[in-house]
Amino acid sequence: MEVSRAATLAIKNLGYHQVGKCNICGKSTIFICIDAKTVRNNMYCPFCKSSSRKRHVAKLLIDKVIPNISSLAEVSSNKHLDNLDKLNIYNADVNDAFDRVLHSATSYYCSSYIPNVEIGTEIREQVFCQNLEKLTFDKEKFDVVITEDVFEHIRDYEKAFQEVYRVLKTGGYHIFTIPCFFDKPTLVRVDTSGVEDIHLLPPEYHGDKIRGKILAYRTFGIDIFAILEKIGFETTVDFSNYLDRNYGIFDSYAFCSRKVEEVKS
Ligand SMILES: [Zn+2]
Repeated sequence: MEVSRAATLAIKNLGYHQVGKCNICGKSTIFICIDAKTVRNNMYCPFCKSSSRKRHVAKLLIDKVIPNISSLAEVSSNKHLDNLDKLNIYNADVNDAFDRVLHSATSYYCSSYIPNVEIGTEIREQVFCQNLEKLTFDKEKFDVVITEDVFEHIRDYEKAFQEVYRVLKTGGYHIFTIPCFFDKPTLVRVDTSGVEDIHLLPPEYHGDKIRGKILAYRTFGIDIFAILEKIGFETTVDFSNYLDRNYGIFDSYAFCSRKVEEVKS
């Protein structure tokens, strides 16, 4: 979004801004609202540009993997945190708020899907072109895999969840966000059973940093839990509560799937 439009929206939504402490950059800040109807996707921290959704992922990352800190910024400054450099994290996003704080302190990999670039190409140090349906990483490489609002855009999402499972160590976590109905089954927007996409509903597109807009194949529903369990994940969903508002997490939910079984074969 261009700066002047963002500034106009920030002024229009002045009444919805919130004071708090960012759990990514660690700064006391004002979370800036640019759309009160979709606070999950905005309430931006002006220092690290993180959204509410990204801070929710950060909350789970801290809770599950680095519980003795209150913001991810501490991982690059706290000498008491042992073995952080051995923590292998893969984030299927690039140039985001996690990049700066995690890249320097952990074994941090990130990726982007760029059409016409060969899968597996290292675009720059530890940044790869990847397709989640066929990751080029070795099996059992990562402690944590992070994806934010990605899986609804993946044609063969079950294959992609299996790929995440493959590259995770046993006991590792897939921390992710997806749009999800918790009271009904997955809404299939596109029939992907054949070679060609068949649209069952008017196509829904979401904004994308690289490609401008990308097709949403589905909105997930409660059947997702059985699918993840069959693959070998134990899954919980964290719903934000009033205490999370202090850390800039508003009206949000985030999934955490733990790989509980050994890789077969
Ligand atoms: Zn921040």
